[in-house]
Amino acid sequence: MIEATESDSPLRLFFALGCPADLAGRLCHWRDSLGIEGRPVPAANLHLTLAFLGAQPARRLTALTQLGERLDAQGFALQLDRFGMLGEDVACLFAEQIPEALLRLHRQLREGLEELGITLDPRPFRPHLTLLRQAAPIDDSHAPAFAWDVRQFGLYLSQNSAEGVRYQPLANWALTRAR
Ligand code: ATP
Ligand code: MG
Repeated sequence: MIEATESDSPLRLFFALGCPADLAGRLCHWRDSLGIEGRPVPAANLHLTLAFLGAQPARRLTALTQLGERLDAQGFALQLDRFGMLGEDVACLFAEQIPEALLRLHRQLREGLEELGITLDPRPFRPHLTLLRQAAPIDDSHAPAFAWDVRQFGLYLSQNSAEGVRYQPLANWALTRAR
């Protein structure tokens, strides 16, 4: 799943839920209809970060994919139904009800990463999907409930270029069907 990397130069990595294309299209359409000032996140970049690893040596990829592979986590339904700010200038969608399975998935990743010597940001996990950066402040509000049937998660490589940031999926794993 991962292309062989010759060098061991650090890679900027994160585990995330990649937003399915049809949902991403609807989210962008809704966001654009609001006419909020800011830098819109392209549809292809919409995601929900589970664990941000920062710069990691490429040789860690094997252990990281083994971690993704061995997690036994369940799929879940996520309702993105709140719209508000994260920090001063990031406009995001949030879930009023955070599914227990999402918290479990985050916790399993956090624990597995700790075993590899990777410590995550100590701040509490605050699941969000960023829609605009450098956004004009907006009041916290209801959003039309965007339903996301979460069936997989992945490991992503964040790359910056003149065209902006791009996230390359390195590996994807299925979540088991909710019982
Ligand atoms: P850019 O920083 O180039 O504007 P970006 O923030 O989308 O773009 P990255 O900084 O590589 O790209 O971050 C990748 C993902 O990880 C994003 O969802 C970002 O919000 C999240 N992230 C970045 N830094 C942290 C952090 N310290 N703690 C938690 N999540 C983070
Ligand atoms: Mg960033």
